[in-house]
This record gives sequence, structure tokens and C-alpha cells, in this order.
Amino acid sequence: MAEIAEPTHDSTSPRRPSGRKRDLHSMSHSAVAELMESLGQPKFRVKQVEEWVWEKNVSSFDQMTNLPKTLRQSLAEVCTLGGVEEVAAQVSTDGSKKYLLRFPDGVGVECVGMPTKNRLAVCASTQAGCGMGCAFCATGQSGLKRSLTAGEIYEQVMHVRDDFNTRVTSVVLMGQGEPFMNYDNTLAALRKLNSPEGAGIGARHLTVSTCGVIPMILRFANEPEQFSRAVSLHSAVQKTRDALMPGVKKYSLVHLYDAMGEYVDKTGRRPTYEYALIKGVNDSDEELRYLCDFCRDTLAHVNIIKLNAIPGSRFQPASDERANDFVRYLSNVGVEATIRNSRGADIDAACGQLSQKILG
Ligand code: SAH
Ligand code: SF4
Repeated sequence: MAEIAEPTHDSTSPRRPSGRKRDLHSMSHSAVAELMESLGQPKFRVKQVEEWVWEKNVSSFDQMTNLPKTLRQSLAEVCTLGGVEEVAAQVSTDGSKKYLLRFPDGVGVECVGMPTKNRLAVCASTQAGCGMGCAFCATGQSGLKRSLTAGEIYEQVMHVRDDFNTRVTSVVLMGQGEPFMNYDNTLAALRKLNSPEGAGIGARHLTVSTCGVIPMILRFANEPEQFSRAVSLHSAVQKTRDALMPGVKKYSLVHLYDAMGEYVDKTGRRPTYEYALIKGVNDSDEELRYLCDFCRDTLAHVNIIKLNAIPGSRFQPASDERANDFVRYLSNVGVEATIRNSRGADIDAACGQLSQKILG
């Protein structure tokens, strides 16, 4: 498994010591202000630049027509505007649309737009591939290519917004990759999505899903924003979980239980667990009993997910009947549980499936 990512470049600094250009999408409001000041610009230019970047999502500095030409040139010398390209897209019968996007270095990631009446939820990736190796996950099978920058995470959201031509009301970081193995960039992207100068999405509508990287769960609980989070549990039996999720084997379920208790104490938020029901693997009565014990009296909410079958995989989804049994038994012991609507099942919505099909 990959090591926990070292903190990457400081997203608050406008220029990097190396002299490499910074992606404007990654820069905080104060970093843009600092940059404009260093270029001798008046304060109102900060808002103008941010409008071009966030609201209009322009792809070149020349499109920033209300800026003087000299300023556009200076910006182009020190910054970039990302440059994501759509390689493929699939539309589901339920209206959700999945995109395969490619960054300038050729690395591809997936994201999904899920529209409902007056709302647009975006599912974005935090890494290209994933090093955690979960046995049931298409992304996990292909390994980690690289982590994404904050700007690249943000660009996916803007791409979907522009395509649907509507405001994004929520973002879930449940695409490819493990957000907590790319902590700094994920946090910077969340902050940009949350900030009024960025997408302006309320922190509670920004959700991170982690496979359970405990040191980062604890660190995240100390961040001042009330971002939402989900933990992929998939089994409350150590042996089963170790086999399904080898990347988090070193963090035991006891550790996870304690960390989530600490999270509840700190944030007052309910822990949400994801549980993809896999036939003959984690859907037995014994698994259900352990799950009930893990969640009982903890305020936990469990999302029972129908496994997306990956072609050639030995894992198959459990029956709907079994999913109903799980929900019923959990509620009998006072644990709230819902069967999560697996949207876009017909468009390879399980993370990593589209890119595997197209990029190999
Ligand atoms: N790495 C993070 C977030 C990305 S995965 C995590 O694991 O939580 C997003 C969610 O999709 C996780 O809950 C993951 O367990 C789930 N998932 C992965 N492969 C799946 C599949 N084949 N069917 C259903 N859910 C799957
Ligand atoms: Fe990575 Fe999440 Fe897939 Fe596991 S389920 S391999 S952590 S993306």
C-alpha cells in the first residue's frame, strides 16, 4: 500500500520556490490577493480574477477581458488554469452522467454528476487510481497512478457544473482514490468548494469518504469546518475486513471504533458507515451480528450499498432480500440504516470502471 502522502506544496503561497507555475484553481483567496498585490494590482482585481476562475471557468488568460493585457501576460507567466479535457462520458437512464477526464500529463480520472430536481450532486475523485487495494473495487485493482492537486479536484466539479449548466449543491469525494492519502490537497479543495469566492457550497454538503485511515480521521475531526464524512466499513469482522480492504489492515476495527467515538465527541456529528453487501462474503447472519454490535449505541448511520459487479470479479452483489434483512435487524437494535440507491449502475458507476474500460 502507498504511504501516507507527505504534505504537498503550500496552497496558500502564490509562487513556489522552484519557480514552477501554480494552478490558479489551487490558490486560496488570500493567496490570490497576495499574488495581485505582488503584481502591484489594486484590490478589486482579486475579485475580477476569481470571477474568471470560479464563475466563468475560463481556460485561458486572454479570456479575462476586463484585465489589462499586461496583467494577463504577467499572470500567464506565473500561473496556469489547469486544463482538463473530457475523454468520454456516459449518461445513465436515471439522468446521472459519468465523465472520464484527462489532465495535461495524460492522467485520467472519473467524476459523476447526479441531478435531481433543483439539485446537482457531484462525485469527484481525489487520486488517479488508488493504492489501498480493496478487493471489490475496480480502482483498487489498478493501483495508484498519482494524487491529484486541489485544483484538479476542483476542476472536476467545475466541469460537471458547466456541462449541466447549473449550480452544484453538494459534492461527495467518493470517486477514485483515498482522500485521506492525499490529505492536504483534499482539504484545500474542500475549502475552495466551501469558500464564497469559490463554489460557495455549505460544509455539510461536502462529504469525504475514507476507507479508514485513522490518523487522518482524527486530524480531520480537528478541522474547524463541519465537513461531512463517511467511513467505508464493509465488515465488522476483522478477518473479513482485512481480506476485503488490505490497505487498512494495520488499523484494527477496535482502533476505528475508538477513533469514530472521538470524532463524535469532537464534532457531535453522527458517523456514517458504508457497507457494500457482497454475496457469501459479508452478508451472513454472523456478519450482521458483528455489524449490529459495532454500531449499537454509537449514533451510527449505516448505508447498505448494492455492490456494483465488476466484470471478471469473484464478488457478486447480495440479494435485495438480504439487504432488507440487514436494515431490519440494524433498526431492531436501534441503528439507523438505509439502502443507498446505487445511481448510474448502467453506466459503470462503480469507481474506476469507466477508466478501466477506456484507458485499460
Ligand atoms: N477511497 C474512499 C472513497 C472512494 S470509494 C473509500 O473507500 O471510502 C467510494 C465508495 O465506493 C466506498 O464506500 C467504496 O467502498 C465503494 N465501492 C468501491 N467499489 C465498489 C463496488 N464495486 N460496488 C459498490 N461500492 C463500491
Ligand atoms: Fe481505494 Fe476506496 Fe477503492 Fe478502496 S474502495 S481501493 S480505498 S477507492
